[in-house]
Amino acid sequence: MEFFYREMRRAHNILMDDTDPVGGQWNYDAENRKRLPSGITLPRAPRFKPDLITEEVMALVAARFPNNIGRAANFDWPVTRGQAEAALDDFLLHRLAQFGDWQDAMQAGAAFMFHSLISTSLNLGLLDPLDICRRAEAAYREGQAPLNAVEGFIRQILGWREFIRGIYWLKMPQYRHLNALAAHRNLPPFYWTAQTRMRCLSDAVATTIRHAYAHHIQRLMLTGNFALLAGIDPGQVDEWYLAVYADAYEWVEMPNTRGMALFADGGIVGSKPYAASGAYINKMSDYCGGCFYDVKDATGPRGCPFNALYWDFIARHAERFAGNARMAMPLMGMKKMAPAKLAALRSRAGDILEALDHGDLV
Ligand SMILES: Cc1cc2nc3c(=O)[nH]c(=O)nc-3n(C[C@H](O)[C@H](O)[C@H](O)COP(=O)(O)OP(=O)(O)OC[C@H]3O[C@@H](n4cnc5c(N)ncnc54)[C@H](O)[C@@H]3O)c2cc1C
Ligand code: SF4
Repeated sequence: MEFFYREMRRAHNILMDDTDPVGGQWNYDAENRKRLPSGITLPRAPRFKPDLITEEVMALVAARFPNNIGRAANFDWPVTRGQAEAALDDFLLHRLAQFGDWQDAMQAGAAFMFHSLISTSLNLGLLDPLDICRRAEAAYREGQAPLNAVEGFIRQILGWREFIRGIYWLKMPQYRHLNALAAHRNLPPFYWTAQTRMRCLSDAVATTIRHAYAHHIQRLMLTGNFALLAGIDPGQVDEWYLAVYADAYEWVEMPNTRGMALFADGGIVGSKPYAASGAYINKMSDYCGGCFYDVKDATGPRGCPFNALYWDFIARHAERFAGNARMAMPLMGMKKMAPAKLAALRSRAGDILEALDHGDLV
């Protein structure tokens, strides 16, 4: 993606100083991984009152699909070009400047943070991706937003979104059958109900049910990461992401789910699986403080499930990842571990997976 993105920057002359990237670097991602400071006031994102046509559709959906996830009555996304423009203007003015710093942060109960909330409008064709990139660049050039924020935001659209689109059209229809890690477990019911003791997942799913939205890192590090570690069947995960998000279209959903989150494509989208233990979730969020589970524990009955599942995942796929230089660190960590410790971790993971298979509350 990184090289594709550079080509896109050159081809469209976005954030370029002649032939060089503005600021001398192509990518400022390292500056975009800060934890949200406590006490920070989050901006309010604009929501849109349904017009008569939308109300009619909401009534139709409520009548025809009464048992589906979510409530049509909650719908408040932009549906016209004017509303989409208003949503974009608000983001450029009030949130873009801080988008970079807290792009990967999560906070319990905070659905939108500093994200742009434009994916539904972009995917509907209400906004033009290149125009958005140019307007974000103008905000930087006029001193309204720092480079790390603007570059990070433009990379999502000009880089990731276009790259994902290219992968879909390049690799379909075979792509939908890829299951490189042979994952076959059923999707746990909490993905539809938010009823889990894992506070991070409960919050991400509850947000999803309420808004048909979760921000990127919730989709990747929480729902996606859990499905990866627990070995959930990619077809069922695809089905869930397609069903629950207002911005879901197969061309953008599938390479993100099967590729970026589940590594089911064996490394087409990402060069390594996005697997994370509870420690990283704790670093990037405030979830763990109020959780039933203890993020510092891995093997006890209240040890954070992400911890045991993480090491079980590494052990399960050690042979496959042996030749992957980017997996050398976790593999080394596992090899250095006392055998009894690894056995305890895998035993705890086995208990969690069994509970999931029985539909027990985890
Ligand atoms: C497992 C998984 C499934 C996803 N499914 C979808 C989907 O069905 N539809 C969808 O539009 N996005 C999907 N994404 C990408 C991303 O999470 C959403 O685009 C983003 O959360 C939308 O919120 P936002 O508009 O506030 O985005 P911001 O965080 O403000 O980002 C700005 C824009 O960049 C684009 N973008 C950012 N990351 C990606 C990406 N990885 N792929 C494509 N575009 C990106 C989006 O158009 C987004 O609106 C998925 C990501 C993951 C990890
Ligand atoms: S302790 Fe584990 S399950 Fe609980 S919020 Fe933290 S990461 Fe999630």
